[in-house]
Amino acid sequence: MARTPKTGEILHLRGNALSKGEPVALPLTQSSMFHLPGAPDGHPTYGRVDNPTWTQVEHVLAHLEDAPCLIFPSGMGAISAALFATVRAGSRILIPSDGYYVTRLLADRFLAPLGVSVEERPTTAFAQGGFDGFDVVFVESPSNPGLDMIDLAQVARDVRAAGGITIADNTTLTPLGQRPLDLGIDIVVASDTKAMGGHSDLLMGHVASRDAQIMERVEEWRRVSGAIPGPHEAWLLHRGLETLDVRFDRMCSSAQLLAERLADHPAVTQIRYPGLPSDPSHDLACKQSTRFGFLLTITLASEDQAEGFINNCPLLRPATSFGGVHSSAERRARWGDQVDPGFVRLSVGCEPVDELWQALNDSLNALA
Ligand SMILES: *Cc1c(COP(=O)(O)O)cnc(C)c1O
Repeated sequence: MARTPKTGEILHLRGNALSKGEPVALPLTQSSMFHLPGAPDGHPTYGRVDNPTWTQVEHVLAHLEDAPCLIFPSGMGAISAALFATVRAGSRILIPSDGYYVTRLLADRFLAPLGVSVEERPTTAFAQGGFDGFDVVFVESPSNPGLDMIDLAQVARDVRAAGGITIADNTTLTPLGQRPLDLGIDIVVASDTKAMGGHSDLLMGHVASRDAQIMERVEEWRRVSGAIPGPHEAWLLHRGLETLDVRFDRMCSSAQLLAERLADHPAVTQIRYPGLPSDPSHDLACKQSTRFGFLLTITLASEDQAEGFINNCPLLRPATSFGGVHSSAERRARWGDQVDPGFVRLSVGCEPVDELWQALNDSLNALA
């Protein structure tokens, strides 16, 4: 049974630990040095090692994930940390062929040359061939941009039985939509650049795991590689997390309504949204997710139609990335994703849904 984080309690985490006179809002500690006479005694030592603003953000994230968390300067920073902390020369890893493409680049360009053997499978056929001999199995569910899902509990069980560990990229749903660790996954990685930050003004990421040894390695990787978040970005993420619940709730509710209406629009030749009962991901989403998310994809007749729809809609930012308060969309084929030229990924934002539907509908109706 999926559990959901107590977001009211999380909002008051800091407040309930305050002493008289301390600021209610999180102070930003922008310092590389800390006053440190004598033995360090567990105090902050140096800005590459620790920072009180990071610690507070990690405290909030730990409650969202129900697991210890470490923050990184981007989602790729978090993914790199999780992979470099778990693989060594001779390791075999399995990654999705249809997931976030930079993860594949990282594996091909940097892990393979160090003697890591990298194999790829599509998300919908991921379990075919089994997991024997894999040290690390990396999954992304729902996948970006295809929104295909994988049975997380099943893959976690099968990989563990075969002696490997699992990493899940949970960026697209956030811990409010799905908690892979509760389903048996060993490590969660996420880009907090997207809905977690939510205002399109920062890049951040995090790694979460209930395995203390893994988290020790991940912390060591951050300290030694120097892939550390800026205190200001951490502070911005903290601020974003305070409204995550209300933003995510509206974005997912709006996405459901818009998906139902877009499915009936004659200009839309195909639609993917896990919340539609006809969607191939629907059953898995019902089983393992608490929300269906704010991402949907539609396919229009041509590249021109897709560009026209996106660029002529006043309530859509034509931009890559997703999860912000402003709805945004892009044609994924422009980056070489293996999708139709008219395939559009749409990230539903926080605009009132009727206003948003009106704008989307007008833009579709205006297509030649
Ligand atoms: C954006 C994204 C990433 C990379 O995150 P950055 O913050 O851009 O480094 C990784 N995985 C998924 C699924 C993403 O959407």
